[in-house]
Amino acid sequence: MVEKILSTTSKVIPIRIDEGKGLTPPIGAQLVAPHGNTQDKRGRILRDLRISVTDRCNFRCTYCMPKEVFDQNYPYLSHKELLSFEEITRLTSIFSTLGVEKIRLTGGEPLLRKNLEVLIAMLAKVRTPDGKPLDLTLTTNGSILRKKATALKAAGLQRLTISLDGLDDGIFKKMNDVDFPVADVLDGIAAAQEAGFENIKINMVVKKGTNDHEIVAMAKHFKGSGVTLRFIEFMDVGSSNGWNMAEVLPSKEVIARIHAVFPLEAIEANYSGEVAQRWRYVDGSGEIGVISSVTQTFCHECTRARISTDGQMYLCLFANEGFDFKTLLRSDNSDAEIANAIMNTWAARDDHYSEIRGSHTADPSTGSRKVEMSYIGG
Ligand code: SAM
Repeated sequence: MVEKILSTTSKVIPIRIDEGKGLTPPIGAQLVAPHGNTQDKRGRILRDLRISVTDRCNFRCTYCMPKEVFDQNYPYLSHKELLSFEEITRLTSIFSTLGVEKIRLTGGEPLLRKNLEVLIAMLAKVRTPDGKPLDLTLTTNGSILRKKATALKAAGLQRLTISLDGLDDGIFKKMNDVDFPVADVLDGIAAAQEAGFENIKINMVVKKGTNDHEIVAMAKHFKGSGVTLRFIEFMDVGSSNGWNMAEVLPSKEVIARIHAVFPLEAIEANYSGEVAQRWRYVDGSGEIGVISSVTQTFCHECTRARISTDGQMYLCLFANEGFDFKTLLRSDNSDAEIANAIMNTWAARDDHYSEIRGSHTADPSTGSRKVEMSYIGG
């Protein structure tokens, strides 16, 4: 496997958009009042926003930030290139006038961003046009949650998603590639529960042949714990993870394996556009979710935009170019102008990458390359 990663990544020049090189978002000649009904070319409406607060991570998960690419020579963003907390909060407020109600902070590893709880406290004060607080959540690898959970809760974070790819230490360490033990992530989850987080989700990326035999053990561990486990199909994000369809285990197989041991039944989505399909244990001991972005694509109901660590807006996880909102924020544009630029950018959206992806390993030496997930926000 390492050999495969090396052979597909050795020539990779890390991809990110250099300062000011993103597309210019169209403000338009005539400003309209911000509203939440902008449809893109496929009739999709903007409802949620993911913000990458750092492109750095302390893990080197082989499927996301493989060591061979993300080494000491990788050109991470410098501090001045990052959006400041004030800029992130302003942009979030503007997005909230356009119908966005859900904000997910991610990265990289978001808890590595210094004083993140200060940003959360700022975002917790933002209100939708009808006076409601935003649904604020965060995805983390859990490695420093023991230290941070109480401060995050006190700052106003409502929900948490924690990534964990197995319970077997050998497999987990091989996947995170920095020798990080399972016990410390489990302790992070416990810390989050002790801090009072009630809505905790666990993300497990399933790679066929690497950790798929951990599926039932993971289900057994979290069954009845109040924590919702979600299985994510290994995706071809970025241009450096050596993705191959042969390593994707379809979600229906995940469900079949769990169902054979702990009977399951399908349940309704919480809301339209929810990425996970929900299942509950027939014995009433909780639910699980599957995110089938490869085998059962959900582009047609995608309501998400992403803001990269340096303020580029991306319309798709698999995009290869973004729109430069940092320059707009750092010029003397008004909130109304920025809101119009967001609406116009969204209105021109036409992507549906997952519906048309090929089934083989991306070859970085040919064709256009996709931005890395750590930069754009997972
Ligand atoms: N560092 C944080 C973490 O580990 O959760 C947040 C960022 S991470 C990019 C967000 C989520 O994306 C994690 O749950 C991770 O497992 C998932 N992810 C990363 N690369 C993926 C891939 N190639 N396929 C599927 N999920 C992936």
